[in-house]
Amino acid sequence: SSKGVALYEALETELKAQGAEADAQLVKTGCFGFCEQGPIVKILPDESFYVKVGPEHAQKIVAEHIIKGRQVKELLYDKDQAAGTGADNIDFYQKQQRIVLRNCGVINPEYIDEYIARDGYAALEKVIFDMTPDQVIQELKDAGLRGRGGAGFPTGMKWGFTKEAPGDQKYIVCNADEGDPGAYMDRSTCEGDPHSVLEAMTIAGHTVGANQGFIYIRAEYPLAIERLENAIAQAREYGLLGENILGSDFSFDIELRLGAGAFVCGEETALLASIEGKRGMPIPRPPFPAVKGLWGKPTVINNVETWANIPMIILKGSEWFSSIGTETSKGTKVFALTGKINNSGLIEVPMGTTLREIIYDIGGGIRGGKKFKAAQTGGPSGGVITADYLDTPIDYESLMNIGSMMGSGGMIVMDEDDCMIDVTKFYLEFTVDESCGKCAPCRIGGRTNYNILDKISKGQGEMEDLDKLKELAQAMRKASLCGLGQTAPNPIMSTLNYFEEEYLEHINDKK
Ligand code: SF4
Repeated sequence: SSKGVALYEALETELKAQGAEADAQLVKTGCFGFCEQGPIVKILPDESFYVKVGPEHAQKIVAEHIIKGRQVKELLYDKDQAAGTGADNIDFYQKQQRIVLRNCGVINPEYIDEYIARDGYAALEKVIFDMTPDQVIQELKDAGLRGRGGAGFPTGMKWGFTKEAPGDQKYIVCNADEGDPGAYMDRSTCEGDPHSVLEAMTIAGHTVGANQGFIYIRAEYPLAIERLENAIAQAREYGLLGENILGSDFSFDIELRLGAGAFVCGEETALLASIEGKRGMPIPRPPFPAVKGLWGKPTVINNVETWANIPMIILKGSEWFSSIGTETSKGTKVFALTGKINNSGLIEVPMGTTLREIIYDIGGGIRGGKKFKAAQTGGPSGGVITADYLDTPIDYESLMNIGSMMGSGGMIVMDEDDCMIDVTKFYLEFTVDESCGKCAPCRIGGRTNYNILDKISKGQGEMEDLDKLKELAQAMRKASLCGLGQTAPNPIMSTLNYFEEEYLEHINDKK
């Protein structure tokens, strides 16, 4: 952020001004995750965790901590943190397990050496020299990794389809077109650990027999783009991308493609059309991209979070990965925790963590001591989780069972003051705006439902409007061409299910 840049510059100036340049190395990192407390400065080796730091604090940090070795108590998150004890007791991090975000806030993402120092590219080396492609695919299947973009399709199976598909030309694609309101997991991963994505895509290239990869990223993410471009250049320089990778006969390269921010381009067939230079509109599946994707060739497409898991699975093994999580959902999930929550931020928790743990232990509870009302996961395609389900372990199936969905990881928390009709209207307005207009159920159904919601929210609704909402929602689910239209009614169905009385209040009280 601009605040972070100003702080970095102030610390740099102070280190020079106070003649302490040789006493400390100033390092930029990616996101620490604890957005609520940012900008954050961590001082190593004692791990003093300074929060809400501004340029005005730079003079004191250098004079006191760097030169005299004394902590600046008022900036510590945990005011009792003794010097040299580390910051492990910070409540926000205690229930987290960082696999995807393992390097975010730890390494300087602009230097490949820092990634390599933390076992970076060791998985690629293992895949090229010590494993067969079938072993890699089997490892992913045994790990139980499922796509983190929302649908949860098993990654190993997807790679297997592409590997087995006939054809000399195959492609690898990274979907970094994160578009859910409130979601910023992929952006932070690309900014904080770009090489993990590059390494994983290269592993996939070797496994399925592809020599070209594309990262489709929205143009609104300039820092992520800059860091990915820098990482690609460095990986090429180190012989980790390009011709004869690591001296082998395997060649693979990656290019960026910038999207213009259309939500529908997160849908894989629309995304591929956009890379091909066409208008980003979905086409019916099957055939699936795994067998007929970019320019009609077999294509593996995964999202950023899925990619970032892969090097660790290869290095630590499927047994390790599958020991984390629930029966059907293995590993961790990254969420962007926002809304009426004390500790908003980017979190990564083992699958199976309950919403209560996320909201109260990690999130620090509801702002202003208010009552929790609901959390929306899955963004505009998801639904609400109410207080009755706070103890549901979060995984793909349990969220579907209660009418929500995992989605890519946006989690917006609402309190007792939030009107569920307004919330639903917000999501529907978003999907109506973002509909590509290709098919009538989504184009007309979405708009009509939005108009009905608008009427209800203004106290002009009628009882029969509820049936109309449900009927249209069913039609959209069944007849829309792509996921955007099929899931757009989910917030309506979910809030009608759990908060019907609020709809009735608006209708009966005309408020
Ligand atoms: Fe376009 Fe909506 Fe149809 Fe998808 S469902 S193709 S976004 S009109």
